[in-house]
Formats: sequence, structure tokens, C-alpha cells
Amino acid sequence: MDKQIKEPEVLVIGAGPAGLTAGIYAARSKLDTLILEDELVGGQIRDARFIENFPGFNRISGVELADHMREQSISAGVELDEFDSILSLNLTDDEKIIETARFIYRPQALIIAAGMRRKKLPIPEEKQFHGNGIHYCELCDGHLYEGKEIAVIGGGGAAVGAAIALTKFATKVTIIHRSNSFRADKKDQDALFNNPKIEVIWSTKVVGAVGDKILHALVLEMADSSRRKITVDGAFVYIGSSPRTEMYVRDLKLDSYGNIIAGESCETNIPGVFVAGDVRTKSVRQLTTAVSDGTVAAIMAEQYINNLRRGKLYGKSVYN
Ligand SMILES: Cc1cc2nc3c(=O)[nH]c(=O)nc-3n(C[C@H](O)[C@H](O)[C@H](O)COP(=O)(O)OP(=O)(O)OC[C@H]3O[C@@H](n4cnc5c(N)ncnc54)[C@H](O)[C@@H]3O)c2cc1C
Repeated sequence: MDKQIKEPEVLVIGAGPAGLTAGIYAARSKLDTLILEDELVGGQIRDARFIENFPGFNRISGVELADHMREQSISAGVELDEFDSILSLNLTDDEKIIETARFIYRPQALIIAAGMRRKKLPIPEEKQFHGNGIHYCELCDGHLYEGKEIAVIGGGGAAVGAAIALTKFATKVTIIHRSNSFRADKKDQDALFNNPKIEVIWSTKVVGAVGDKILHALVLEMADSSRRKITVDGAFVYIGSSPRTEMYVRDLKLDSYGNIIAGESCETNIPGVFVAGDVRTKSVRQLTTAVSDGTVAAIMAEQYINNLRRGKLYGKSVYN
């Protein structure tokens, strides 16, 4: 059966904070706006226990903030297509065609707000124990470890926050960090060091995992290259993220980390294709910078569409 063709004026890829903000602005400008999301609406903040630095809320859970943003985008008039995966893209100056499992989209302007995805633990046994002892989301899987001993791998804000949150369930949480200091907020570090259930193993890498059907132990490599095993019931991994840009390599210019190159105007190398949020090349990745990009990208997309209409009216190309 032929796939249905949808022709929104603006298509946004990704319903994280950047994409939802772009959607709100575009829809409020009376542009027919559709957001495509292949997972849960909300993006990375769904994994945040509490957010305390987003203006307007002293303290709000990530899931609650994501739900507010979703509701606001829908009431602004955004259409949301969820749980659908992109199969192919063809992005040129004249045409933007995005094919998913269910639809073919032909928008006038495209905003890519695809964000970041967690890095997998780089050990040979990752696949074997993924979901059976190795986890990436304490909010989703922490409750499985009531009364157990677990490890948290990583040293940034996400790792420190998760370790603290997991002490609600586990009797002991061991943080394994390859460096000798944390990159988390000072306030969170203080909470961690004052928590009697948490122990830290510094300057150490996880190089393997042992178990039968489920994880029983991690193999550690210490700073002096010696190895040892620690017994754990589960491990939660927070070792960074990488941009979800594999599918744009052919058409768009990316930096050496795989982020889509664009300046503050969020314009990419293809007219009519804009990028917003963590996936854009930039130095600060936060909620506030993501929603800022979403705003700019939507306004630039509107200008592009207006120029396109004017060009069509007077028979000119958009950039003449
Ligand atoms: C645990 C944690 C805690 C955090 N805490 C804070 C905090 O307290 N304060 C703060 O300012 N920041 C925090 N951050 C960072 C913040 O969440 C990000 O900066 C922000 O979410 C970036 O928004 P984004 O929309 O650019 O990307 P994302 O949030 O990554 O959203 C991108 C969305 O695009 C979707 N997507 C990607 N590719 C496709 C595709 N091909 N098709 C369809 N959909 C696609 C993804 O599924 C995702 O929903 C935290 C991050 C984490 C992980």
C-alpha cells in the first residue's frame, strides 16, 4: 500500500525541549507544524530526577516539565507523530523529503532537533547484560535493585544525580569513575559525599562484565593497569552522550564530534534546513540553550517560508 504523503509547512525532527519550543513558535505563527518523534516525547529531560535551573520552576521533575511542554505544543496547534522511525532523507535546496515507516513528509522547512543519545558501555559483554544488569535509566529501572548492591559508572552530573537517587533502593552504591574528580554541581557532590551508602572508586575503568544470564560482577582496570573484580547486582551507566546525526552525514556539514554545524541563526548548509538544541555545534548544552535554539530556528524557518512564497509570487529564487 502506498504511504500517505504529509506536507506540513514546518517539520520538526525530535520532540525534546528544542523541538517542542520550535513547534510552539511555528504553530503560533500559524504555520502548519508537525513534530516527528521516534521515542517518548520530552527527550533527555525525561531522565532528569529534578530540574532546578529552568526559569519559572524552583524545582520540577524532568517528566513533569516534559509533559508541560508537550501539552503546550499541542494546545498551540502542533501535530505530533510519535513512535515512527525515519527510513530515509533527501535534503536539497529545492526539496526536503523524509520517509518514515508510516509516512512520506514533504515539508517546506525542516528543523532538526534530534538531541543526544547516551553512549553505551564499551565492553564486549554490554549486549549480553543490557537490561539484565546493565542499565541506562535509574528512573526506569532503579526499583529493580531494592535491597541490592549496585555500581554507577561515570562522573558527570547525570552519574552523581543517579547515584544519589539509587540509594533510595540499593543498600550500597559504588561509583566507578575514570578520572579523579567529578564534573557535577558542587551541591550534588556535597550530597553524594555525605551519603553513607555511596562509595567512590577513582581513576578506574570498567573493562568487562561477568555473570550467567544476569550480571554478577564488573571487571575493573585500576590506574596502575592492575585488574580486579567487584561483585554487584546491577550497574547504571552515565559516560556521556553523542549526537543523533548518523543519517545527516551525506547532506549536512557536521563537526568532528558529529554535531550539525550552524551558527546562532541555526541555519545549516542547506537552505530551509535548520538545527536546534544539543545537536547543533555549540559549547553549552542545557535546557535554556535548547529552548533558545528552538525559538530562533522556528523564526528563521518562518522567514524562509515567507521568502519562498514571495519568490514564487514574483518568479524568483529564494536567495536572489
Ligand atoms: C539525566 C539528565 C539530567 C539533565 N538535567 C538538566 C538540568 O537539570 N538542567 C538543564 O538545563 N539541562 C539538563 N540536562 C540536559 C538537557 O536535558 C538537554 O540539554 C536538553 O534536553 C536538550 O534538548 P534537545 O531538545 O536539544 O535534545 P533532546 O532532549 O536530546 O531531545 C531530542 C529528541 O529528538 C528525538 N529524536 C532524535 N532523532 C530522531 C529521529 N530520527 N526521529 C524522531 N525523533 C528523533 C529523541 O528521541 C529526543 O526525544 C540533563 C540531561 C540529562 C540526560
